[in-house]
Amino acid sequence: MKFPDFNHKLDRETSYKIRIDSARYLLCFVFIAIIFYVYLPKLSISYSLHTPSRTNTGSAHESKRKIINLNSIFMICIVLAGVCYNSIFSYINTLDLVLITKRLGRNCMSLYVPLLFLTMRPSPLPNVLYLNLIPIHKWLGRLLVLQALIHTILYTCLYYKTQVLWKLTKLANVYGIVSMLGFLVIAWLSISKIRRSDYRIFYISHYILTWMTVIMLQYHARPRATYYTIANLSILIFQILYRIYLTREVVFDDIEDVSPTFKKVRIPMNLLAKKPISPGCHIRINNKHDNFFKNIFFNFFVPLQHPYTIESLPTDDHCTLIIKTGRFPLVQGGSYYVSGCFEPRLPFFNNNLFKETKYKYSTPFKKLFGNKDKTIIIVTGGSAITFGLPILQLLNNENYKCKMYWITRDLHDLNLIKKNYQNLEIYITKTTSEDENIIIDRNSIIGGINLEGGYDQRETNPLIQSTVELNSPELPIQSMLSNPQSMNLNEYSESTNMPHVFKANDESEEFLKSSIVYRNYGDSTDEIDFTKVSKEDLKRKKSQMFTGENFRQPSALVDLDKDGVLFDTYEYNSKSYGSVNSSKKQMANRTSLDKIFIPKGLKINIGRPTLGFKELLWIYNEDKECNGNNVNDSTCLENIYLKTLGVGPEGNYLLPNSTNTEDKDVLVLAAGPIGLVENTKNWAILHNFQFYEEAFFV
Ligand SMILES: Cc1cc2nc3c(=O)[nH]c(=O)nc-3n(C[C@H](O)[C@H](O)[C@H](O)COP(=O)(O)OP(=O)(O)OC[C@H]3O[C@@H](n4cnc5c(N)ncnc54)[C@H](O)[C@@H]3O)c2cc1C
Repeated sequence: MKFPDFNHKLDRETSYKIRIDSARYLLCFVFIAIIFYVYLPKLSISYSLHTPSRTNTGSAHESKRKIINLNSIFMICIVLAGVCYNSIFSYINTLDLVLITKRLGRNCMSLYVPLLFLTMRPSPLPNVLYLNLIPIHKWLGRLLVLQALIHTILYTCLYYKTQVLWKLTKLANVYGIVSMLGFLVIAWLSISKIRRSDYRIFYISHYILTWMTVIMLQYHARPRATYYTIANLSILIFQILYRIYLTREVVFDDIEDVSPTFKKVRIPMNLLAKKPISPGCHIRINNKHDNFFKNIFFNFFVPLQHPYTIESLPTDDHCTLIIKTGRFPLVQGGSYYVSGCFEPRLPFFNNNLFKETKYKYSTPFKKLFGNKDKTIIIVTGGSAITFGLPILQLLNNENYKCKMYWITRDLHDLNLIKKNYQNLEIYITKTTSEDENIIIDRNSIIGGINLEGGYDQRETNPLIQSTVELNSPELPIQSMLSNPQSMNLNEYSESTNMPHVFKANDESEEFLKSSIVYRNYGDSTDEIDFTKVSKEDLKRKKSQMFTGENFRQPSALVDLDKDGVLFDTYEYNSKSYGSVNSSKKQMANRTSLDKIFIPKGLKINIGRPTLGFKELLWIYNEDKECNGNNVNDSTCLENIYLKTLGVGPEGNYLLPNSTNTEDKDVLVLAAGPIGLVENTKNWAILHNFQFYEEAFFV
């Protein structure tokens, strides 16, 4: 077998034609691949919606692997194959290494066009969120840099072999070498560790080097690649013009410091250049600099904008943002450039509904998922609450069976929740001594739920009691749904010394109806402790279920008002929970403490959540197999547990309700820290639920 070398030279004209054509073919090929990537049903990797498999033969692990494959490997392989063919393997029989060297360079020019196209905000491709295209942009960029590097190395070898190394100093080649160095710097700064350590440097260098290389490559390429350069410059200039069109200068005069972690910013909706249509839109914010040139530079050439999701509904008067305190300075009364909004891509919704002008967020249509009914679990962590809340409101308004968990670190973050969102359950994971200097006022300022549908009877009841009366036969299973060792306020008052504050006044009933706070006494790390589910775990979980270990750690109501200390020890079932720092207890002075107001009915847990049997029973309790009448029947519980896990008698996987997964219609949404999203995904996939993650790795 013979390898190409520098000794075979095609005639100039043929070589010229081949490399011009190859670059064009590659350009077309990549654009077609992008279209497939974005729009091909099921195979599409532009969004992370996992649809359960239709058959019950595949294991959960296979499903999981399939997602990984689809989301990363498919596109890379296709484009890599195209690049290899168009740069190396077609015309390989000519054995002309010079041709390959030249084609690699030319193909870099053609790849640059889709590379920039993929960064357009918003994407010109219909129904595509530009952020979903970033993974292909990254991979295309890597291929481009690789090709450019091989092109440079091969040319250097050729010059060395033909003893014309001096040619490297020719101006056209210097442009090429500088561009190559620019590519290498971009690639190096894009490594996730370096990128995350200082995003600004990554961002600024990315833009500056892009402008530089686009222009320099025009003077390097022979024959001139004028069409490609025009296309590249058009994209860059169009981006600037479109950004100007989509940007408004806004004075931020409503900034609220809700907690050490979060700020809430409210902007009148009519100040946005483009009004939101769907829930979960985001806007991009940039500083307005006093210095004219700095302003031009950072808004035109290097738009260092920060994306933030709109927490309010499109029909609200104000666009509310919840912004995690970071390096981006938010100054009351400061001027900012606000671009957008940018519509999300929520593949699980019937998105046409939002476009209908008659769509009112307060009117139940039951059409959010087409004509299907669905059960929805939303899991969000930290600032990703902005993604979950509007969706939760929408689902609540349309009376879907849904629940949302919000996991956050700091008790002060509760200040974000100013109204009683039905079906919202909050977990506070950080309970340092600092946080214990807080009183949570359960008799909240907020008397009525402020959903667009108006007053709702359910708002006054704690969620855990919302479906059953305390004396109803279903109570045991309701207790399980919460936690085997948790109590509601009534039970707590009977089993312990009810704090006098609850009993001494007429408002005691009102207190009982106010928020429930649980505390978990689990491990002490700050990581979110979702159950990591795997097939191997199933057996263990099955046995744990009956000992209670499968649930989150013992929790019970905490007497918030007792002695002015937030958390105290208390006894339940002859076990003692919690800890008391007596010195702190003495120091605790109610008058100097912060107050956090929690809307009535909100369910708050102190600790880390576990996705498990509790959720499965909540999803499947319509089966009536395990209701309040037979909850003590361990065989029944075992059966429903295995069934909900999709495990048959011999350990093989079954689909819980039906082999037709479309019928099951459980949708799990996750957004937030990567660990939380991953664990939720594993759990959803294990149970063969539909899963969508809102996670952008910029
Ligand atoms: C679609 C989307 C919606 C978002 N919604 C919210 C929200 O509602 N609330 C919220 O608090 N945060 C949100 N974020 C994250 C937020 O944009 C970044 O945390 C913020 O830009 C960080 O600014 P900083 O100066 O503090 O960053 P730095 O401290 O400089 O960097 C911290 C990290 O933030 C990210 N980041 C920084 N600048 C940008 C940028 N221009 N574009 C994208 N990511 C960046 C990078 O991952 C970086 O590593 C969202 C991000 C995206 C992509």
